[in-house]
Amino acid sequence: MYLFLAIFFSTLPFLWLFTQVSIMGSFTAAFANIAGLVGVVLMMWQIILGNRFIVRNLTRDYVSMIKLHIFLGIYSLFLVLAHPFLEMISYGKTFTFLLIPDLSSELGSHVALGIVAIYLYLFVWLSSALTRDKISYRIWRYLHYLAYPMLFFAFIHAVEIGTFLSSFILLKAYFIILMVGFAAAVLYRFSQLLDVGKFPYVLSSKKQSSTGVTAYTFRPMAISLTPKIGQFFFIKPSVFAESHPFTVMNFVEESGELTFGIKAVGKFTNQLEGISVGQTVFLDGPYGVFTSEAHNNKPKVIIAGGIGITPFVELVSRFGDQNTKLFYANKYLKEAVSREQFKAQLGANYFDVISREEIKTETVIQGRLNEQVFTQNLTADFIKQANFFICGSPGFMGGVLMSLHKLGIDKKRIFTEEFSF
Ligand SMILES: Cc1cc2nc3c(=O)[nH]c(=O)nc-3n(C[C@H](O)[C@H](O)[C@H](O)COP(=O)(O)OP(=O)(O)OC[C@H]3O[C@@H](n4cnc5c(N)ncnc54)[C@H](O)[C@@H]3O)c2cc1C
Repeated sequence: MYLFLAIFFSTLPFLWLFTQVSIMGSFTAAFANIAGLVGVVLMMWQIILGNRFIVRNLTRDYVSMIKLHIFLGIYSLFLVLAHPFLEMISYGKTFTFLLIPDLSSELGSHVALGIVAIYLYLFVWLSSALTRDKISYRIWRYLHYLAYPMLFFAFIHAVEIGTFLSSFILLKAYFIILMVGFAAAVLYRFSQLLDVGKFPYVLSSKKQSSTGVTAYTFRPMAISLTPKIGQFFFIKPSVFAESHPFTVMNFVEESGELTFGIKAVGKFTNQLEGISVGQTVFLDGPYGVFTSEAHNNKPKVIIAGGIGITPFVELVSRFGDQNTKLFYANKYLKEAVSREQFKAQLGANYFDVISREEIKTETVIQGRLNEQVFTQNLTADFIKQANFFICGSPGFMGGVLMSLHKLGIDKKRIFTEEFSF
């Protein structure tokens, strides 16, 4: 809420320009200008919200910040595109004005900077809003970095063209402050490559198991970071490596040791399997607020799919009681992580849900999780009162959410974490 207000207030100096339309001669020209300036402010917010090193100074709820970043990214399109289209109309030009930069005049070259910014914007927008799940995560991510040159060109374009900014000195000062803020954000981003704000840890143990998940335990080399249950860290295995997010499965307060359960699914997680005990990695975090509503003895239903169990391992150890029901879905029984521990801690309140094999020797729920599974295993009162915590793949979570919707569970009682941004 505060952030929405901050975003709104940051656009106010430009929205005020609606009272100054007469300076521009026409409403179209004025609106074109205002759309461009407000668009730049919103892009600036996207840069801020997408940078966890900036955001973590405001909140640990990085996932919500990413959601807001996505929301702004998708919907600011209309404003950003309104700018060139209205400019085209107010200059009395045709579509070639937007498509082909005219470098023969000074004005034309200033406009060209804006056209480049719009092309980059469209590139980032299309790769995120339309083809995000059709291209590889890495390609998408590198395309996303085009947002930095895009904003650079947009800033220079606005200052060179001037218009409203040339008429109001205070507005220009505000715009220059935004540019300085952007330069600081870029520098801050580069400083991350040098591991500023990350903490060295050493791999103290690595245990592979038949579940296909490897448990990595890291010991702090200097500063010990203290996560809350359900929080995650970004792990960077070496100076020039990528960093990826993983949830803490276990934290030992005395030694500061953090254990992560990691499933090898791609390039990074497979390379991680190659690190050896004694090797130094860099961690940053903790981030996240998932399960914070479960750190109590109130009735809770935990629903995990595959590796989505990690946020719940420590939660069940600390807060698992007769009011805790855990449904753990896997294709094969051998994939269930910490199964024996859950059975010991929760007894009959722990349910395996197995979809790809028939188990005759154990009591498991065969098939997929659906509303019947919940109604058969939970009392109506429990369903009415409990909070629901879900983590797993997007497909799994979609199915579970649909079942909970059919059971009439209020959205306010459902808490989720997706293992992908
Ligand atoms: C908040 C959070 C907590 C997580 N906790 C765990 C955990 O405890 N255990 C575990 O095994 N996995 C966890 N993951 C998933 C883990 O981060 C990805 O599986 C891993 O980054 C995949 O990288 P890759 O190169 O091996 O595979 P890729 O094939 O590159 O990626 C597979 C998928 O993982 C996601 N992904 C890849 N890179 C990133 C990234 N840098 N940031 C966010 N998502 C990414 C994408 O959706 C991608 O499609 C978590 C993810 C998030 C967002």
